[in-house]
Formats: sequence, structure tokens, C-alpha cells
Amino acid sequence: MKREFWFVVGSQFLYGPEVLETVDARAKEMAAELTKVLPYPLVYKVTAKTNKEIADVVRAANYSAECAGVITWCHTFSPSKMWIDGLRDLQKPWCHFATQYNKEIPNDEIDMDFMNLNQAAHGDREHGFIGARLRKPRKVVAGYWRDEKVHKRLADWMRAAVGVAVSKEMKVMRFGDNMREVAVTEGDKVEAQIQLGWQVNTWAVGDLVKEMNAVTDAEIDALMAEYKAAYDVATDNVAAIRYQAREEIAIKKMMDREGCRAFSNTFQDLYGMEQLPGLASQHLMALGYGYGGEGDWKVSALTAICKAMGEGGNGSSAFMEDYTYHLVEGKEYSLGAHMLEVCPSLAADKPRIETHHLGIGMNEKDPARLVFEGKAGPAIVATVIDMGGRFRLIVQDIEAVKPILPMPNLPVARVMWRAMPDLTTGVECWITAGGAHHTVLSYDVSAEMLRDWARMMDIEFVHITKDTTPEKLEDELLVKDLIWKLK
Ligand code: MN
Repeated sequence: MKREFWFVVGSQFLYGPEVLETVDARAKEMAAELTKVLPYPLVYKVTAKTNKEIADVVRAANYSAECAGVITWCHTFSPSKMWIDGLRDLQKPWCHFATQYNKEIPNDEIDMDFMNLNQAAHGDREHGFIGARLRKPRKVVAGYWRDEKVHKRLADWMRAAVGVAVSKEMKVMRFGDNMREVAVTEGDKVEAQIQLGWQVNTWAVGDLVKEMNAVTDAEIDALMAEYKAAYDVATDNVAAIRYQAREEIAIKKMMDREGCRAFSNTFQDLYGMEQLPGLASQHLMALGYGYGGEGDWKVSALTAICKAMGEGGNGSSAFMEDYTYHLVEGKEYSLGAHMLEVCPSLAADKPRIETHHLGIGMNEKDPARLVFEGKAGPAIVATVIDMGGRFRLIVQDIEAVKPILPMPNLPVARVMWRAMPDLTTGVECWITAGGAHHTVLSYDVSAEMLRDWARMMDIEFVHITKDTTPEKLEDELLVKDLIWKLK
């Protein structure tokens, strides 16, 4: 899907045609320059002077499949009553870019004409008021338009807005139900579709097995070549790898046929399959598909969305699970992994394909899986929980490290990190907020991007940072609970 953003610049007729021509020319130049440094094209649409021009461009944005968001800016003063109809109807993500064409105040050149032309400081305040007055969700980014820091913030907002578009198109293919008796992976699928746009539906495991049986040797050979190119094969059990390839091809065919971008399955429902998809799920995630274990369709959809928001439209984000702690003083870490399914986009080095026995579930044969260590560096973990009547997105800042132990007998991919503000306080905060054991771990989606995404999706957002205390968080959750009951 081709995606672009629209640039709409505010002005008015007061200043005469010359000023409007200058504004128009500069807006064109800025959009062209910014397109070179932003991840998606910024298409200049109009210098708006009337209520109708604004309403028209908003209507066109709402109906454009390519338009993933609108960026507005007021080069001059632009009276905001003429923005009311347009902004009220705007259904696409909105960023108010408070910038200025010139960087410096030119000492000799400045006079009242210069001031009237370059009065974004004035115009953007009027524009900001109407956004606030309309209670319209929006991102405000301020700064000089050639500044790299500003580019990064606009780029991140664009990625978050693309996450909104991906969310609204999201289809999740479920094989089997949730793991029996588990609460946090449950949720209201009707509410998820209303609020987040996710179409979550089920397909029979028997249909998947039928699809697997129809996969040809030639198709498996081709995928085996891809595996060999991307990973080190560290097992003689070629049959197990080929079986995973068969599973992957069949799942992918079914998802592509239905336009699904994410899937879930459960080890409790593998009827007719010899192995839980391990390598198969991992390689599908590497291709950009979302995945959630134990029927967790919420984390599956969120994984696909985060991947789409990351670098190059398929970033370093993965389905993750908090497994166990290292509680030695001064070396407190969480160890995250899953039974098999961790996306290799997290890997520090080339992953190895290994086969091992898997005791959980109905695995007749040892499943092949990718084994690797996660990268070190700042990252986040994120989860969506269903609070009953609303969804809560919880994000925690983490510092991933090279695992401090080699763990030679652990037959799965592993990531080690310290949660903010420190491991035990971080765990207290996460548990107080109701955060799940399943998360998306991402190295290139920031908490700010997910805050922007949550604002645009109109769901609750909780962020646990280096400055969070359990006391402050408890108060925040209490206030948010009241607000979200009233909304
Ligand atoms: Mn799990």
C-alpha cells in the first residue's frame, strides 16, 4: 500500500496576492525538501484561505486510501473559525507542525511586512486554540523545519500514523481458541473492531492441515534455500526443518488469501499437526506478520502494527514473553523468550536453526526453531489489555543487555533486559497496571510513537519510565479509570 501525508498551510486573503504567492511557493519547497528526509512523502495540497478550501481538502483526505495523515501549519495568521468545519470532520491523524520558514530574525531586513508574512508564532497559537477547543486529538511538533531533531519527530509521528492505518486494516487469523482458563489473553473482539479496526476471526486447524498437505516439495525447496541464506543450520534433522517450511507456506497462503497480517495459534489445538510451528512462525514474523501464542490475538495484532511502524515498514519488533528473573543484587534482569516463537529481527547475530524436544503441547516430533540472543540497547515492551469497556496500552521502557549467562541448555531465542525504573519497581508498576506476560518488544518503536498511536486510536495509555513510582502510578490509574468510565 502506497502511503503519503498531506501538507495543508493556513493563511487568509488579508495580506494580498503577493504574500499568498510567497506562502504557496515556500510551502511547495518545504514539502519537497521534507519528503527527501521523511519516511513517507509529504504532499503539499493547498494554502487555505477559506472555510470551503479547508472542508474540501479534509473531505478529500478522509476518502483517500493513500493519505495516512494531515500536517497543518500557519505561515501567516489564519483565523480559526474557518477551520472548524474541516477539523471537526477530519478522520485522519493530524499533526500541527509549529514551524517557521526562516530560521533567524534578519536584523536589517525586518519590518512590518516581514512580520506579517512570517507570523507563525501568532498563527500557530490561533490554530492551536481551535484544536484544543474542538478537543481534537492531535500531535504538536514545534521547531525549525530543516532541523534534524524535528525531522525525527515528524518521522516518528508519520510512523505512528501509519500504525493507525495498519490497525484499521488489520485482519487476524486465529487457529484455535485462547489457551484454556487464561484471562489476560482474552478480550472483546467486537470492541477491538469498533475501537481499533481489528477483524479477528477463526479458521479451522483442519483447514490448515489440508493446506499443509497440498504444499509441494518444490515450494519447500525454495523456502529451505531462504532459510539457509538467512540462518545457520545447526541440526541434521532436515525433515523437521522441512516440516516447518510446510507449515509456514500453508499458513502464509491462508493469510494472504484472506488479507490477514497477523495470526495466533495454540499448542492445545494442533490436531493433525506433528509440531507446533516454531521456525515457521519466526520466519513469518521476520516477513512482517504479527504473531501471538496461546491464542493471544491482541499481542499478535500489536506485533504486526509495531513492525509496520518500525524502520523500513518492518522493524525490529517481536512477540515476547516475560519468563524468569535473575534477582542477584546489582545484576537484576528479566529473561524473556517463548516456547519457540521469537522474531529474528531482535537477533544480535545470525540465528541458528536447532531441533529440540518440546514437552508442552501435542508435538509428535521435535520442532525446529531459531535460537539466538537479543541485541543490547534501549527498547520498550508494550501490551494491550482489555479492562472491560476499554483497552489499555501499557508501555515500559527497558534496557536490553547481552545475556549475562550463556544458558547452553536453553533451546530457545532469549532476550535479557532491565525494566525501568529498576527491575523490582518496574515489575511492581507493570503488575499494578495489569500488564500481560505477553508483550511486543521493540528496539525501534518508541514509547512516544505508541503514545501518539494510542491517542489517535482513542485508547488509554500508561507509560512506565525511569521516573515512575508505584505511588504516582496508582494515582494515575485511579484518575484514568474515572476518566475512561465517563468517556
Ligand atoms: Mn506465551
